[in-house]
Amino acid sequence: DSFFEQVPLAPPDVIFHLTATYKADTFPQKVNLGVGAYRTDKGKPWTLPVVKKADEILHNDPNLDHEYLPIKGIPTFTAASAKLMLGADSVAIKERRVAGAQSISGTGAIHLGALFLSKYYPKGAVAFVSNPTWANHKAIFNNVGIEVADYPYWNPATRGLDIDGFLGALNAAPNGSIIVLHACAHNPTGVDPSHEQWTAIADVMQAKKHFPFFDCAYQGFASGDLAADSWSVRHFVDRGFEIFVGQSYAKNFGLYGERCGCLTAVTRDTVTAKRVDSQFEKLQRSEISNPPAYGARLVNIVLNDPVLFAEWESDLRTMSGRIIDMRDKLYKKLIELDTPGQWNHIVDQIGMFSFTGLKGR
Ligand code: PMP
Repeated sequence: DSFFEQVPLAPPDVIFHLTATYKADTFPQKVNLGVGAYRTDKGKPWTLPVVKKADEILHNDPNLDHEYLPIKGIPTFTAASAKLMLGADSVAIKERRVAGAQSISGTGAIHLGALFLSKYYPKGAVAFVSNPTWANHKAIFNNVGIEVADYPYWNPATRGLDIDGFLGALNAAPNGSIIVLHACAHNPTGVDPSHEQWTAIADVMQAKKHFPFFDCAYQGFASGDLAADSWSVRHFVDRGFEIFVGQSYAKNFGLYGERCGCLTAVTRDTVTAKRVDSQFEKLQRSEISNPPAYGARLVNIVLNDPVLFAEWESDLRTMSGRIIDMRDKLYKKLIELDTPGQWNHIVDQIGMFSFTGLKGR
């Protein structure tokens, strides 16, 4: 007899299983289009030059040790992360109504936010995610007991945004629903709302008192411009929304394996921010005790040094520029080959993902 008799066999994770199979494959011209990780022209991972520099600085620091970080992480890191997301001149930051915790990359940020909502958000509220979305969204919310539904997003006919379906679902959702929004570079479609569409989304969400939970895994990686890529988040905050935003530094710093991210909450006032912050700390303690130091130390160095920050922006332009260039090349080739159909969505989409409109076999 086993205690584990009742444990069903789970299927392997599709994306990471594909990566393992890809690694094992000896075919010389193999290409992995599955996992969302940046590659160079040679198909290799890229360590950002600015990260190498930060690494040098870190290792030459005579005071470097391996003590625990504070429970909520490096304070200058979380402060710089909020500034990066909300803007250096953010009114919410000035008014000290921002709370935050360093997290286990973007996944951990969303998890911590979801866990908080499972405890302190009105019971029974449903989290709405885009259809389609990053596969982990549903699992993360379900794991903390929050039911997940979806809102229409992808319009196969236009290979663009189904804005009418999206707004209709926001209107039909019970007041005060949790709405998970991709801040930029939507995964997996590559389709982002325009500023006008974001404004319309915010209008409905304000009327319906929905709670925006932004997932921002690609800031600076989409357009190459950090402010442009966080326009949606800043727009909601400017309009007075209270929000959560989960940040990942996996892609924009190329720190995939270091698990470095941040959960930021913008709240109504300072007192509220303090209460929320105290619960982030309490939840984090029981979940992971202390976040990992290495990646956050690197990001902390770069975000708080104007010269390195400028270098980072240049590295971001290298990555986003290459992606835009690849889209362009694919588009031109399709046209050159007289491929039947419309292909402008390939270049209209943004970030590292693309819904090509091609059907699998
Ligand atoms: N959200 C989205 C939409 C993503 O694509 C990813 C990365 N694939 C993440 C969050 C978080 O990833 P990580 O935990 O590696 O930062």
